[in-house]
Amino acid sequence: MIYINTNSKNGYFHKQLEALGRKFQFVNDEKDFVENSNIKKTIYITKASQKDIHPCPGTKYYRCCNYHVFDLVSGCPFDCTYCVLQALIKNPYIKVYENLEDLSNNLELLNCKGRYRVSTGEMSDSLALDNLLKISNYIIPKVNKLDNILFEFKTKSGCINNLLYLNPKNIIISWSLNPDDVIQREEHKTASLNKRLEAAKICSEYGYKIALHFDPLIFCDNFEEEYKLLIKKVIDDLKESSVLYISLSTLRFLPEITDMIRLGFTNTKLLSSNFICSLDGKLRYFKPLRSYMLEYIYKCIREYWKNVFIYFCMEDAILWKKIIGIDPGCRFKFENYFMGGNKCIHF
Ligand code: SF4
Repeated sequence: MIYINTNSKNGYFHKQLEALGRKFQFVNDEKDFVENSNIKKTIYITKASQKDIHPCPGTKYYRCCNYHVFDLVSGCPFDCTYCVLQALIKNPYIKVYENLEDLSNNLELLNCKGRYRVSTGEMSDSLALDNLLKISNYIIPKVNKLDNILFEFKTKSGCINNLLYLNPKNIIISWSLNPDDVIQREEHKTASLNKRLEAAKICSEYGYKIALHFDPLIFCDNFEEEYKLLIKKVIDDLKESSVLYISLSTLRFLPEITDMIRLGFTNTKLLSSNFICSLDGKLRYFKPLRSYMLEYIYKCIREYWKNVFIYFCMEDAILWKKIIGIDPGCRFKFENYFMGGNKCIHF
């Protein structure tokens, strides 16, 4: 069910839902529906007093790329075993903020300050609700007018219908990728690998820049075979020139969700590995295994694609140097790699 707070009446999302003929109900407060709400199925549209773009929290122990985020949606209809939102979101519904004007103003301000990469994909999947709310149709025309903003929609969906015919400029659509076996076991309700790659291909044909996130890499008995096949499929389906960058990172999750994983997902194989509590408080694979996995994937991709920029998300400088031969440095230096500083990527 969809609930709209009266503070958002006649707002962008209300109008989208009306145009689609979708049912919704106006409420004055979350108390009016919360007893019957469902964390994956109930959508609550409301306006916060103020929302701002903020840098990804990062941590001083791992290299951070200075990504910026705007939390327009808090909650996700997908159901990934390892999802950090299980610990972070306390509301039993998906909250959508009618703060689009804040987003637009923040983007204009950032655009005057310098070059920034911004996304909506931290507290949700950027496109999971796009067929319903058309968030992309609000954001893309705005970003098209800004020279310094590179806007990324991060997704595990195939929801790209609203993206066509928007003449994107600095817009990236990115997909998180895993072997189909892992998708079926650990990324419930998301699109299959084929659907994700098909969507990526179509988006690149419609002028979008594509990014790929091999994140989280999940260790399993046949890790090498499964991921080699995945990479081969990516190489066969997409052109290197259509991919702006690729990130790699191994599984990490908050210790608080260990029991939720165990009790909520009976088929999961996540907990069959050993983990260490790392410097940022998250559970990760032991460093030698992380190093092995990252190096394996890095080399597999490089065997085919020699030029695309590949980076590690939240990894330490030692692994960077060992595998790629560079230390990207602090968040501002690291970001330079995305801005063509080392001739890796150009807007
Ligand atoms: S798609 Fe992302 S936000 Fe949604 S459940 Fe999966 S990990 Fe969480």
